[in-house]
Amino acid sequence: MTSPHVAPDSPGAILQLIRSGQVSSRANLAKRLGVSASTAGLRIQVLIDQGYVHEVEDGQPRGGRPPRRLMLRPDWGQVIAVDLGSQHATIGQFDMGGRLIEEWESMPIQIDAGPDIILKWVGEAIENQGSPPDQLRGVALGVPGPVHVNKSRVVSPSRMPGWHGVNLRVHMTHYGPKVSVLADNDANLAALGEQDADPVDHMVYVKAGRGIGCGVIVDGRLHRGSVGAAGDISHLPVPGREDVECSCGRNGCLDAVASGAALVRDLLAAGIDVENPADVVALAGDADPTATRLLREAGRATGELLATVVNFFNPDALVIGGQLSRAEPFVASVRAAVFECCVPTATEKLRVRASHTGHRAGIRGGARLMIDHLLDPVRLNEVIDG
Ligand SMILES: [Zn+2]
Repeated sequence: MTSPHVAPDSPGAILQLIRSGQVSSRANLAKRLGVSASTAGLRIQVLIDQGYVHEVEDGQPRGGRPPRRLMLRPDWGQVIAVDLGSQHATIGQFDMGGRLIEEWESMPIQIDAGPDIILKWVGEAIENQGSPPDQLRGVALGVPGPVHVNKSRVVSPSRMPGWHGVNLRVHMTHYGPKVSVLADNDANLAALGEQDADPVDHMVYVKAGRGIGCGVIVDGRLHRGSVGAAGDISHLPVPGREDVECSCGRNGCLDAVASGAALVRDLLAAGIDVENPADVVALAGDADPTATRLLREAGRATGELLATVVNFFNPDALVIGGQLSRAEPFVASVRAAVFECCVPTATEKLRVRASHTGHRAGIRGGARLMIDHLLDPVRLNEVIDG
């Protein structure tokens, strides 16, 4: 979709037409813009000269020159997406077509070491393992806490002590002005990554890992709300669970009742030795009755709360991601509670399913966010004019 301030024959608008598949040749473009073939050729040449677009031979010639197809150049640059969790980070290197070139999975970190140590580590990890600096166009950063999206500022994160008020973009400026930096909440990015893999118009993506987060897709786009807090269900109260204290200072929050961290706490209290949510999922995989029961209860609490969201918002898909999505008792209980508690019209077309993108949801969404930003028509016209 093109913004109204973008002239339809500007480079940004034309790139958008090529990217979306609406225009695939010079002749297509001439027809679309109502201009001569030579004018269309000049417009295309700007994008070819700047390295954004190339022409590839397309099919068999029907006499004369073979037909040529306009395409985005995936090698125009690279972007890096960083998904920071509480204890692990995943980094992915992508081309401009959104193809994953290389991935570094589950690198151990401690997010509560604070922004100075963690963001320095991120910088070093990118420099040691990422793309050559002249190829790098953007870095997208996902964090497990609320991010005020215009200011890239972390806001009151319950699982990130020491990060409140930190401006992530300012901390990442050492790449210079040629490298864009964007930051967002990890569940928002994961929702975007899932949407990229399996597009639907309206989606609620729940990241059920050590904490519980949620991202919302409306009309195919990430919905952030007024300041970036849309979808934040972590500290909604679970009825009847006022006995459980939450790190936010209140009682009975979903995060304190049904998150991976809560399950680890409850299993330890039951005398079962676990360290992290992956251990809980593994125990349930071995049919451990306590782990299975706790996962079912957590799934039910999460599903009952999400039923309100589904009734209100009427999504096409409710996608469960994060570590707990690997536990069938959790996903099945969410599904059962949602279908039980919702009005029938809200669930008529609803799919409740585990994530297709798994641990890559966040980096895939980060890459998508950054590529959309870099190829945004308004921005591109400024870059090309400048
Ligand atoms: Zn809370």
